[in-house]
Amino acid sequence: MISRRKFLTGSAMAALFGSSRAFSSNAKSTNATPWYNWSGELSCVPAGRVVPKNEAALVNYIQSTTGALRPVGSGHSFSPLVPTDGHIIVIDQLRGLLGYDEKSGDATFGAGTMLADLGAPLNEVGRAMINMPDIDRQTFAGAISTATHGTGISLGGLSDYVRALRLITPTGKILDLDAASGGDVFEAARVSLGALGVISQITTKTRSAYRLKAVTTVKTLEDALDTFDADAASNRHHELFPFLYSDYTMSLSINETDEPDFIPPVDPGADQQFRDIVDLWMSTPAMLRKPMVDSVVGMMEPETKVGPSYRVLSNLRHNRFNEMEYAVPLRNGNACLREILNTVMAQKIDVVFPLEYRYVQGDETWLGMHSGHEDFAAISIHQQAGYDYKTYFDIAEPIFWKYGGRPHWGKVHSLGREQLTTLYPKFEDFRKIRAELDPHGRMLNAHLKKLFL
Ligand SMILES: Cc1cc2nc3c(=O)[nH]c(=O)nc-3n(C[C@H](O)[C@H](O)[C@H](O)COP(=O)(O)OP(=O)(O)OC[C@H]3O[C@@H](n4cnc5c(N)ncnc54)[C@H](O)[C@@H]3O)c2cc1C
Repeated sequence: MISRRKFLTGSAMAALFGSSRAFSSNAKSTNATPWYNWSGELSCVPAGRVVPKNEAALVNYIQSTTGALRPVGSGHSFSPLVPTDGHIIVIDQLRGLLGYDEKSGDATFGAGTMLADLGAPLNEVGRAMINMPDIDRQTFAGAISTATHGTGISLGGLSDYVRALRLITPTGKILDLDAASGGDVFEAARVSLGALGVISQITTKTRSAYRLKAVTTVKTLEDALDTFDADAASNRHHELFPFLYSDYTMSLSINETDEPDFIPPVDPGADQQFRDIVDLWMSTPAMLRKPMVDSVVGMMEPETKVGPSYRVLSNLRHNRFNEMEYAVPLRNGNACLREILNTVMAQKIDVVFPLEYRYVQGDETWLGMHSGHEDFAAISIHQQAGYDYKTYFDIAEPIFWKYGGRPHWGKVHSLGREQLTTLYPKFEDFRKIRAELDPHGRMLNAHLKKLFL
């Protein structure tokens, strides 16, 4: 039997698809240390890395230098937001819980804090993050800068809960921005792709600490889609991982509980088992794959996990991949998902990695993928690192466009300014603020120029 956790986290997947490719990219041969993103697909050779010990050092660095700058978090984005031949600014020394307001429940963190390090200090003061994404290796600043989100029809993305932040502009000015005093720069900075400056502190809304129980089962995709809206409404979190070349999907529901901790034991043989299965699928011609996938997936056992919210919401993902994700208006989610699944099978695309299908509440950020007056279905497609993802993503992307999708800023997409202007009512306002804060374009790399110039 194979469990969902084994399928998605199997380190055998990394051995198979990740390690051979991860560092064979187009980095120039030089003494400088190259930078790579998590999937190994993106790389650059920056002139240097700056790791300021505190905000004063960061301001001093920005004011006393010229040339291109890119702030970097954990490098977990799939779109080329970071690559530069200028300097990379690493703010992992600016971390930890800096303050907590008992009255409002708002908590302030150093912007370089890893999401995995938010939960424990908040728990100590009886609080918790309202939601978390699928993994928690990102930095807080990196996560809000691309509108990173979790799952939940009544829950927003991380940027939606940002109450204040400190932005060091490309000219070295310190701006303390907050929701209370409003202001366009605050709204723009909540999701800003590292294009407005360097965020050094973030204040977030929190809630009382809570415990969660996650239950993963396998269902037929038809059954799961039939009840998806009702399930999304009746569970705090509900999402699907539909398999390709299969009638099945994994279904994950997470709800509050008082039950005691239960973390499923790790099976030491699972990685090898997983590796054998994936190997078999990938070496099987697409037209013969369905019975094989259905028989394996049909045998998957249900899995349960119980613990504090910050231990249940996010996972570890060892197997590396590249990803495209679009947010489509919720009313189009089901049709868009079906068209992608059907297209992959009709065109016999070589991919075994499941999709991810989740709902996210609409929010009021300017550039968040879920901004606006309606809720969204977030649909992700993945390909194992080291395998051709372009064919798959090039075929899927126009389907996302057809259903009114907006690309996740941190994931692969091909859109530029012209299309983005039509997708975001506030896009031109953001461009204006960017130009005011960074008149010489220090924060722009080639990708950001395509988006904003
Ligand atoms: C395995 C995996 C799972 C994922 N799961 C999810 C998910 O469930 N939901 C979701 O929405 N996304 C998900 N993502 C995407 C990920 O959350 C985003 O790409 C996120 O932005 C990565 O954060 P990071 O710290 O690695 O930042 P990076 O990728 O290093 O940088 C992202 C952006 O933030 C900017 N930035 C970083 N630090 C600062 C700073 N101090 N000031 C200003 N700008 C800054 C960078 O310049 C860049 O534009 C996943 C990615 C991976 C690899």
